[in-house]
Amino acid sequence: MSENITYGLSTLAIHADAGYGPDPLEVSPAISVSTIWRYPENPDEWKSAKERAALLKEHADKNKTEEVSLAPDAVDPNFGIPFIYSRDTQPVALRVERTLSKMVGAHVVSYRSGLAAAAALITHLNPKRISIGDGYHGTHGVISVLKRLSNVQVLPLDCAEGDLHEGDLIWLETPVNPLGTSFDIEAFAKKAHGRGAWLVVDSTFAPPPLQDPFQQGADYVHHSATKYFGGHSDLLAGLILTKSKEAKKRLISDRLVMGNLPGSLEAWLLLRSLRTYALRIERQSRTAEALANLLDRFRRDEEFCKEKGVEPGLVIAVTHSSLQGDDFVKKQMPGGYGPVLSLSLVTASVTKRFPGYLKLFFHSTSLGGTESLVEWRAMSDPSVDDRLIRMSVGCEDTSDLERDITLALVSCGRFWRSGTPAASKEE
Ligand SMILES: *Cc1c(COP(=O)(O)O)cnc(C)c1O
Repeated sequence: MSENITYGLSTLAIHADAGYGPDPLEVSPAISVSTIWRYPENPDEWKSAKERAALLKEHADKNKTEEVSLAPDAVDPNFGIPFIYSRDTQPVALRVERTLSKMVGAHVVSYRSGLAAAAALITHLNPKRISIGDGYHGTHGVISVLKRLSNVQVLPLDCAEGDLHEGDLIWLETPVNPLGTSFDIEAFAKKAHGRGAWLVVDSTFAPPPLQDPFQQGADYVHHSATKYFGGHSDLLAGLILTKSKEAKKRLISDRLVMGNLPGSLEAWLLLRSLRTYALRIERQSRTAEALANLLDRFRRDEEFCKEKGVEPGLVIAVTHSSLQGDDFVKKQMPGGYGPVLSLSLVTASVTKRFPGYLKLFFHSTSLGGTESLVEWRAMSDPSVDDRLIRMSVGCEDTSDLERDITLALVSCGRFWRSGTPAASKEE
């Protein structure tokens, strides 16, 4: 690829790493399983660890700029020895990070899971206070582990600006789990920066091209790549995005020590997934918007319900960024509103029937794969109302999913009215 031409997301996902591995002719690289590499044969090429550290420092002192250059690093940290030990890095992980960096326009550091990435970033920033709302429960789990070492204090997301101090952290998940609704990133960036605090956005539910939190002032962006980047329910990975070269270096050297690089197979699966990523996310997000619209019509339009045979009053709430109506949402999410939405049915017992009546949605936790998923969310999150259903929309045909949901609601309505199951999966 030419460094002087601007390419689109799909093109970058397919071509950004061309010629970037140890074998420039490979189209799909081999899964690299080696944990160690032999040093070069020529002793003149060897640099002791001490010499390498001195050379790196000299280079860093000369290049103090924070500009994002996404070209391969001018100085290779191992000075001519690209691979030493796979806890440091390995060929496919480098290709993945190279491709993702180009796709998101920032430095990307990859991790074994989304939560490993969250733990690494919070450790890197080492705040005294973290302002965080509801959202993915695992992130709260990470903070409670880190508390054993740091006494970090947890503040609510809507804490007073004056409660934040220099070096503190606002961790903003948007769109937020499980509702799929959005927070105003720009407003939180102002609040953080007014106090010298950091803003991290967990953008897992709206990866590019849906939103770019750096545009609204985020300092770091976090993704669980297990979800949409991975996209096939077969790998765990996490990403930290930063515009700062210094932060990237520190995150990489921390990762080496903590042993958090994705495994060889996971890196390979992720690279494979990126090739079709843009097609998937755009389809998933567009279909989710259509389904949110359909469900919301069942919530508010009695005539429409009657026409389709759905009991009016069955659907009591539908949440998705596309239905939110706040002005900032449209501006913040120019590429679409994300593939996750939630709904609530009239009672917990009716709600529990819904996943079983659906034929095209697997009843399962997580999100992001090609298959549509539905979850009675009380199964995995103790904090939610037991009438809540979370949906993660996959890549199936939109009209098939619309019909599936409509028929499942018809069955739920019959169950609600009669108190007995009126339809089964085989119907
Ligand atoms: C899944 C998820 C995580 C954690 O990612 P893992 O890859 O499962 O460790 C963090 N944040 C959000 C919003 C998620 O959906």
